[in-house]
Amino acid sequence: MMQTPILTVEAMRVCYGKVEAVSGVSIKVAPGSIVSVIGPNGAGKSTLLNAIAGMLPSQGRVSYDGLAIDDMEVEERVQAGMALVPETRELFADMSVQDNLLLGSFRRYRQRRRAEDRDYLSQLEWVYQLFPRLHERRLQAAGTMSGGERQMLAIGRALMGKPRLLMLDEPSLGLAPLIVKEIFNIISGLRATGVATLLIEQNARAALQVSDYGYVIETGNLVLEGAAPALACDPRVIETYLGMGKGRHVQAA
Ligand code: ATP
Repeated sequence: MMQTPILTVEAMRVCYGKVEAVSGVSIKVAPGSIVSVIGPNGAGKSTLLNAIAGMLPSQGRVSYDGLAIDDMEVEERVQAGMALVPETRELFADMSVQDNLLLGSFRRYRQRRRAEDRDYLSQLEWVYQLFPRLHERRLQAAGTMSGGERQMLAIGRALMGKPRLLMLDEPSLGLAPLIVKEIFNIISGLRATGVATLLIEQNARAALQVSDYGYVIETGNLVLEGAAPALACDPRVIETYLGMGKGRHVQAA
């Protein structure tokens, strides 16, 4: 990788009590690229992401934009430009789409001077351009949106904070294939805006299709990594994660 990575994780370990959920994982994300971490249920993907965001204590080293951030609190990491969209999609159900979006900029702007305050309006415009459906539904209560729309809102809200690294925990979870495609198209489009994306996914096919690079994690360990197109052709990935293995063909026949 020629450029300084926006994110470097070296030998990360995360434990829940005596149980080690992430056992020495190293990953890199280049600026403006899309990197996915795939793996089965319980492999440690969410744990890895939460630790990178600073929400769980970990061992190892994490650098953001070339600076060690191991001692930074979650809030400081967000201020620096890291945004996590958690799996639970923490939206305010009774509030409108627009108010949810505006809250996304609140964290970033509350310590700023007035002159910069208006910046959030152009950020809002940008998010509405990316997600026209959020604009159409800006006055609707977030809780009444469909699953796909709520996922768009969760991503849009994270983008309101002007992140340079967007971390998404299973954006495809529980969504119909067409909606997954739509959301992944939007994620793919973010590349052009310079925002890098670290994507945690069980849907390996959808994730690898939009990614530049991918990592496979199993029981807390990295077992495979490579350029996404190469990974998608790797027999081990095909057999285990893309559902095109020999066994399945036999079963389907
Ligand atoms: P999924 O796709 O199902 O979310 P995952 O790859 O994200 O899976 P994690 O949620 O990171 O996996 O879980 C990794 C391991 O750590 C699992 O064995 C899980 O049971 C365990 N684990 C997760 N959270 C906790 C917790 N708060 N306390 C104890 N163990 C936990």
